[in-house]
Amino acid sequence: MQLVRVALDVPLPTLFDYRLDRATRELIGARVLVPFGRGQRAGLILEVGGEPEVALERIKPVAHVFEREPRAAPDVLRLMRFASRYYHYPIGQVVMGALPQVLRRIHASRDAQARMALTAVALAADWSTLPPRAVVRRRLLEHLRAHGPCTPALLRSLGSTAPRAVRDLMAEGWIAFEERPSHAPDGILPHTVASGPSLTTDQAKAADAIAATLGRFTAWLLLGVTGSGKTEVYLQLIARVLANGGQVLVLVPEINLTPQLQSRLITRFPDAVLASLHSGIPETERLRRWRAAESGQANLLIGTRLAVFTPLPRLGLIVVDEEHDASLKQQEGLRYSARDLAVLRAKHRQVPVVLGSATPSLESYAKALAGRYQLSQLSGRASSQLPSIRCVDTRGLRLRDGLSPALIDALARTLAAGEQSLVFINRRGYAPTLLCFACGWSAPCPRCSARLVLHLGAARLRCHYCGHEEPVTSACPNCGNLDLTAAGHGTQRVEHALAQLFPAARLLRIDRDTTRRRLAFEQMRQRVQDDDVDILVGTQMLAKGHDFPRLTLVGVIDTDSALYSTDFRAAEKLFAQLTQVAGRAGRRDAAGEVLIQTQFPGHPLYHAVQHQDFAAFAQMVLAERREAGFPPYAHQVLLRAEAPQREAVDRFLGHAARVGARLGFRVDVYDPVSAPVARIAGRERGHLLVQSTSRDELQRFVDAWTPHLSGREARRVRWAMDVDPLDL
Ligand code: ADP
Ligand code: ZN
Ligand code: ZN
Repeated sequence: MQLVRVALDVPLPTLFDYRLDRATRELIGARVLVPFGRGQRAGLILEVGGEPEVALERIKPVAHVFEREPRAAPDVLRLMRFASRYYHYPIGQVVMGALPQVLRRIHASRDAQARMALTAVALAADWSTLPPRAVVRRRLLEHLRAHGPCTPALLRSLGSTAPRAVRDLMAEGWIAFEERPSHAPDGILPHTVASGPSLTTDQAKAADAIAATLGRFTAWLLLGVTGSGKTEVYLQLIARVLANGGQVLVLVPEINLTPQLQSRLITRFPDAVLASLHSGIPETERLRRWRAAESGQANLLIGTRLAVFTPLPRLGLIVVDEEHDASLKQQEGLRYSARDLAVLRAKHRQVPVVLGSATPSLESYAKALAGRYQLSQLSGRASSQLPSIRCVDTRGLRLRDGLSPALIDALARTLAAGEQSLVFINRRGYAPTLLCFACGWSAPCPRCSARLVLHLGAARLRCHYCGHEEPVTSACPNCGNLDLTAAGHGTQRVEHALAQLFPAARLLRIDRDTTRRRLAFEQMRQRVQDDDVDILVGTQMLAKGHDFPRLTLVGVIDTDSALYSTDFRAAEKLFAQLTQVAGRAGRRDAAGEVLIQTQFPGHPLYHAVQHQDFAAFAQMVLAERREAGFPPYAHQVLLRAEAPQREAVDRFLGHAARVGARLGFRVDVYDPVSAPVARIAGRERGHLLVQSTSRDELQRFVDAWTPHLSGREARRVRWAMDVDPLDL
């Protein structure tokens, strides 16, 4: 008999001890059912052997081992253990959270063909100990012994109380769904590679340098303006890995970006087995694809952040596209950076990882400057000219629903030339606030410290934080004034204005409101590609990665607020966003034009955007960060807390700050503050920042700190540790 330590989906930072006959290290990574509380849970064996804290006989036995299922891959387990330690999140929740949901349940199968069988517990048990009243339970067990595995439907038909007996026997671990044998790898397929364009000198240099590191770990930062041909470089590298029988993992920040890259991969590698993994996939299908990756059958895996944990036995290369994108960082639960974990995984597996971007995160760029990442640059666009980017000084101008005369002119010209335009405004709705000029009232959300956004069409006021909705009031509730003003601009208002200015133009608005339906975004993207649209209005959903061949004009409105934001990353985000959106223009033959409306046309940030000079921008911002002691020159951890009462949040964070300061580590513990949006959906939010120039010291500090965060003060709040936070 041996001790096994099992990861369970339970919010406690430990593994759970069970005993198991004939357990060997072979079983590490095996899925099991174990008794827990009054029921059963699915878990994963992470350790075998070691000294139990109580006598082994007093520890409960494992109820069932899914012997024939493949074991979790060692490198994935290693990555998960790191993630649990580094992001300070319970190991069981990390491990189980990364598995397809179907595998996290005890009722593992919804499939009608699935059969139930006696477990090891039942086979080892003395059935005469069952209470005499358990007639039906005994009948089911006898049936299974006599006839072998059968469907739950059949078992349930063996008596009027049989359904309950099935549930009880499952809960006690006497019966379980039979596992299916995993399908054997289908072997490595031959690959045809459709021909791509012949590479530019820059591309060839980058591809060759990176290819020379196949078979060992190197982190590459591939920096090149939008349209410089980074994807082409990925494709070349992927071709080499596939030809050698390897698997490739491609991480993309957003589900919306997968179809485009996916279709490029399919065109180039028509007979590769490609699997995509993202949150939009139904659970059983997700499991199927995950298994295809795990068995080695799929050789190309493209996915959003969770895909970083997918088992890939023949992994040869990892690509992280748009590596700077904030959505590569999970913002709840395990707050991990899929990019950073991808680099670590590549290191564990001794394969190269390519981080690609036109505007890398300053963290990655600083690492490249310091020589920890290899920098590879593509200059200029591969097959078209960079657009000309110009600022429109809006000081003293009369704008028409946010549109300047210069932009309206340019739109008219583009329309007359039969080309497409995009007006970018990163706010949905009609107007961000409904104002009373008589008394200064503006429609507030009753549950958040935020204003309600006016949405036309439905004539509703909506909160963009909590979803609260109410009808538009016709009179100011404060002073009775009947003349309320819609202040500021959103996508609907711009669309409305454009419809009046250009009645014959075909308009399309793309934001979260118009793309709620599944596939809506994909259909809209198709319309743009099919040239069924003249003017697009959209938020950042449109800015990223899309290749719209006929788009030649981009107008940007209302982005100045980032210049005076308190978020030290605001400039970095704005630079990336403007570069991305400008990069949509003129990707084919016709030259592109970008107009940025601003009240600060002389601002160095806009200057750098105009010259598409990432290096100059990065140098400027890095100097500021070094001066101020901000990341990447310091490392941060944010303790976030929320509760219905402000006082509970303050008390908890105050306590945490005092304890933290007393622990004697070389870290700076800042004063607790309210979150920028202090209340959301009736919950008060605050945080406490801890910073250090040493990552290790900061980690040791958090290890020592967290045990103090479970006392009396903690009971009234929900708190979370956010390591390397991206948003305050
Ligand atoms: P990025 O990923 O940097 O935005 P892409 O790889 O998507 O750039 O390339 C942008 C456009 O240029 C695409 O239409 C692509 O087909 C084309 N392209 C890329 N490399 C070449 C090349 N070497 N010759 C001709 N066209 C190219
Ligand atoms: Zn008023
Ligand atoms: Zn709200």
